[in-house]
Amino acid sequence: MGIQQIEVYPVTLAYKEPFRIAPGASTESHNVIVKIITDYGVVGWGESSPSERVTGETAETVIKILDKIAPKLIDLCPLRIEQDVEVMDSIVEGNPAAKAAIDIALHDILGKTSRKPLFMLMGGYRTEVLTDVTLSIKSPKEMAEDAVKAVNKGFKALKVKVGVDPIEDVERIRLIRKATGGDIKIRIDANQGWTPKQAIEVLNKIEKFNIQFAEQPVPSEDMKGLVEVRKKSPIPIMADESVHSLEDALRLIQAKAVDLINIKLMKSGGILKGRKIAAIAEAAGIPCMIGCMGESEIGIAAGVHLAAAVKNIQYADLDSDLLLKDKLVKKGGTKVKDSMRVFPKQDGLGIKELNEQILGKPKRIYK
Ligand code: MG
Repeated sequence: MGIQQIEVYPVTLAYKEPFRIAPGASTESHNVIVKIITDYGVVGWGESSPSERVTGETAETVIKILDKIAPKLIDLCPLRIEQDVEVMDSIVEGNPAAKAAIDIALHDILGKTSRKPLFMLMGGYRTEVLTDVTLSIKSPKEMAEDAVKAVNKGFKALKVKVGVDPIEDVERIRLIRKATGGDIKIRIDANQGWTPKQAIEVLNKIEKFNIQFAEQPVPSEDMKGLVEVRKKSPIPIMADESVHSLEDALRLIQAKAVDLINIKLMKSGGILKGRKIAAIAEAAGIPCMIGCMGESEIGIAAGVHLAAAVKNIQYADLDSDLLLKDKLVKKGGTKVKDSMRVFPKQDGLGIKELNEQILGKPKRIYK
């Protein structure tokens, strides 16, 4: 059993509307799709959705890294994922989003070869996953309107982007809570936008609006600041940009800097290491969330399978495919119904058919 061919397809996917967070706005997601073909006919799909701001990667660097990695994977066994990941890591350090594309495709092959949906092979803890939907930064009034629209669509949890202006951020949360009522879960994400002092002030002011947790209040490199915010915040603190690798997770846990960790496959390097981060966190009593960058239905399916499989992944922010106007997957993938991501009855990731027009021709073929 061996990897016979790896194809690489850069794709540009437009957002429905500009997606704005504290560090800036995006109108498109530049992703790289990977197709791994095995010598026994099974095909696996993977995706990279790099964020230059978070891991320093772009679609261009992802292709450059795949140029180095992919030829070395030919003829290796696709089911020996731990070993395949070791090979990738021995060729080049870092570049987790590039490696995630390969890791996800290998897991798809694992599921298809075993004739099981991937989440069932990895633990099968849940059969569906509650996801939030993200409210991009706008004026407080517009965000409250967007919140009502999301609730009317059936979403039971909202992830509210903040981190721009502390006074306006408090107003955002106040209006959103007022507009949505008491039952909707509200989590916030400052994307490193506050100083520790601002964070502590804002978090204490918005405590009364019943906030589930607050993600990455301060810059990722400011571990001391994060520890201080956690100590003085009445709202649990989740690390996102501060935790990429297993080592980051351990370091933050040891520093008592976090209550929760946001795992993203594009930061961890894929599913294999994402599971390991969840296990490290579990040992410390730290629940995890699975988040996303700008993945299409392929990368999102990978996140949903992992979230369903693992007990300690208690939260999901898996909505980027819903924010994208361009739909790469025609059939299959994980649909959303009343805030729940549900699986199709398919093996592996469950991706059935892609939109060939969006996918285009492969930019690279390694064999
Ligand atoms: Mg975040």
